[in-house]
Amino acid sequence: MKENEKDLFCSFCGKPQNLAKRLIASPDGNSFICDECVDICRDIIKEDKVTTVETTIDLPTPKQIKEKLDEYIVGQDEAKRVLSVAVYNHYKRINYNLVARKEKEEKDLSIELEKSNILMVGPTGSGKTLLARTLAKILKVPFASADATTLTEAGYVGDDVENILLKLIQNADYDIAKAQRGIIYVDEIDKIARKTQNVSITRDVSGEGVQQALLKIIESTVASVPPQGGRKHPHQEMLQIDTTNILFICGGAFVGLNDIIQKRMNDSSIGFNADVKTKVENSQINFVKHLQPQDLIKFGLIPEFVGRLPVVVGLNDLNENALIRILTEPKNSIIKQYKKMFKIDEVDLNFEPDAIRAVAQKALELKTGARGLRTILEGSMLELMYETPSDSQIQKITINADYINGKNPKPLVVRKQDSVSHEEVV
Ligand code: ADP
Repeated sequence: MKENEKDLFCSFCGKPQNLAKRLIASPDGNSFICDECVDICRDIIKEDKVTTVETTIDLPTPKQIKEKLDEYIVGQDEAKRVLSVAVYNHYKRINYNLVARKEKEEKDLSIELEKSNILMVGPTGSGKTLLARTLAKILKVPFASADATTLTEAGYVGDDVENILLKLIQNADYDIAKAQRGIIYVDEIDKIARKTQNVSITRDVSGEGVQQALLKIIESTVASVPPQGGRKHPHQEMLQIDTTNILFICGGAFVGLNDIIQKRMNDSSIGFNADVKTKVENSQINFVKHLQPQDLIKFGLIPEFVGRLPVVVGLNDLNENALIRILTEPKNSIIKQYKKMFKIDEVDLNFEPDAIRAVAQKALELKTGARGLRTILEGSMLELMYETPSDSQIQKITINADYINGKNPKPLVVRKQDSVSHEEVV
């Protein structure tokens, strides 16, 4: 260290050199800036980039939204219809309010169009997150998703509810106006049900507090969000975000909710004819049709929260055929992705129909819906993905059911020299 280096300090915050990770000198060598002040300056510039010009959203019709959803999501027809209409109405309302405000049509503003957030009820891996994410993609609005079980009420250790808003702001490149019209998906909302009336075994003791905290941002509020995330502290400059036009989609499996609905329907029919009890079929989509707000309250959601989720959508369990279609049909289906990966190495990868069925059957056993498909294929394909790139002679690989089921450890391989005979190598 040179003689005078110990006297250097940051010209911005005054921190001495020995306490800073880096101290950068100005070209004339007379002033300095430390690494922390550089970070702060970067954030200030980022926030300055925020555009505040609000324009109307280019809005497809509900039919067009549904058609787009069909490209990415298999089945769930009823859910897609309800969602297309709900999302269309949400953005129609935003566009209308914007135009009316600009043109100062006060008379029309007297009828207030209220926001309708959405609740999706459906088993794990049935496409809830995918639907919410795809809707945001179609509408070209920012998207953020969060797991309700990781959230805590303010003051507890864990993720503050405001951090969801920060994620949305970050995904909108810190453009607050854009973030204010985004979509937020909150998964596992059933896991924050109130303890006392909850029928599920896994329950979160702080559930009700988290519901209250979520309620605040789901309702219209101007929230203060710490730009770096994490806990708020008193001297931090906050980002202000108005949640009035953010569409909240909540989702959960709600195990046990069908029993609550069935019990209510049976109880209410006692007075008329005790023998003819309404039987709600034990499928998600059917029981959601009979769902009433009091059932969700009985499940453990607080009434104010239920009141904020007026649109309820049911998703089906995915059966074997649906899983097969998921593997092969969507624009970026998993099978198409694997084929592409091998094509880059100039290998033609094929799956026999029975192999695809075998993957679907194994996924059904896992009971995690379509989530299991990728896990199973990753396991099956690992060895091939390991070996193939170092064997330039491989031209074509065919996967059959035995290979997926582990009965035959080697798939059929056609090599470049003998494109006629099949060898069982690799
Ligand atoms: P959930 O949120 O209901 O638990 P996800 O939307 O996260 O389920 O689904 C997990 C994965 O399974 C998705 O990334 C997607 O690849 C696939 N998937 C689930 N349902 C469908 C569906 N109906 N159509 C196409 N893919 C699906």
